[in-house]
Amino acid sequence: MLTLTLKRALLFVSLLLVNFLASAQEVIEPANTHPEWSRPYPPFKIAGNLYYVGTYDLACYLIVTPKGNILINTGLAASLSTIKASIETLGFKFSATKILLTTQAHHDHMGAMAAIKKLTGAKMMVDEGDSSVVADGGRSDYAFGGNISKYAPVKIDRILHNGDTIKLGSMKLVMLHHPGHTKGSCSFLFDVKDKERSYRVLVANMPTIVTDKKFSGIPAYPGIASDYEYTIAAMKKLRFDIWLASHASQFELQRKHKPGDACNPAAFMDRKGYDAQMNDLQVQFLKKLNSK
Ligand SMILES: [Zn+2]
Repeated sequence: MLTLTLKRALLFVSLLLVNFLASAQEVIEPANTHPEWSRPYPPFKIAGNLYYVGTYDLACYLIVTPKGNILINTGLAASLSTIKASIETLGFKFSATKILLTTQAHHDHMGAMAAIKKLTGAKMMVDEGDSSVVADGGRSDYAFGGNISKYAPVKIDRILHNGDTIKLGSMKLVMLHHPGHTKGSCSFLFDVKDKERSYRVLVANMPTIVTDKKFSGIPAYPGIASDYEYTIAAMKKLRFDIWLASHASQFELQRKHKPGDACNPAAFMDRKGYDAQMNDLQVQFLKKLNSK
């Protein structure tokens, strides 16, 4: 029979164990309330060496070079198999992924990042403003933070600042700091070529507002209003040929491309759609700013 002291000791040890396990694996991805986020989508060539490898709505982009490939965004944790299958369906090697980027450190774009990094050994490069959030799996996020990570934390290999260049083979991407949605939301600007011409591509993080609070009531992000103001003004001035975004719905992928369509870069040359959406986001920003 166990003595009371021994029982207490065992209880103490088991509590320690529970705490240890909790701290070792406190990653709980929010429930997916958007079926289109996890729905697979056939991968396709957008233009030149740029491919769509995301899900129906969570946009992921693969830039292929002879020196290896760049992957922008990953979708949810479960998107890992979708992305891997998409890359392989296109005829590329998953293991050739050398650089990992994200347009914003939320779980719907970062879910599979740690796993992809582990499997490929690719280098993770992150906007400075999102670096702490990436490193703690979203715990320090100003809107959705807390004690539990929303995605597996990722070790960062390089911190990026506004205007920094990411190079691989002959590819050169410029990172543009577009904070607000997260503190380190960003867009990528780069050129791709096909036989006919070259295209300037913008993978934009559209500055949507995630917080229900007033801008003045967010001590974790005192500069939020001026960041949105800066980002909207900066994004309106950008020049590009092809416009893509973090969510497929934001640039109306489903309207512009049907599975099986031949490669058609012109379908994504939509300055009008971009301007309309930036104007709408500006209206939402001003409404929030002036809300009492
Ligand atoms: Zn987000």
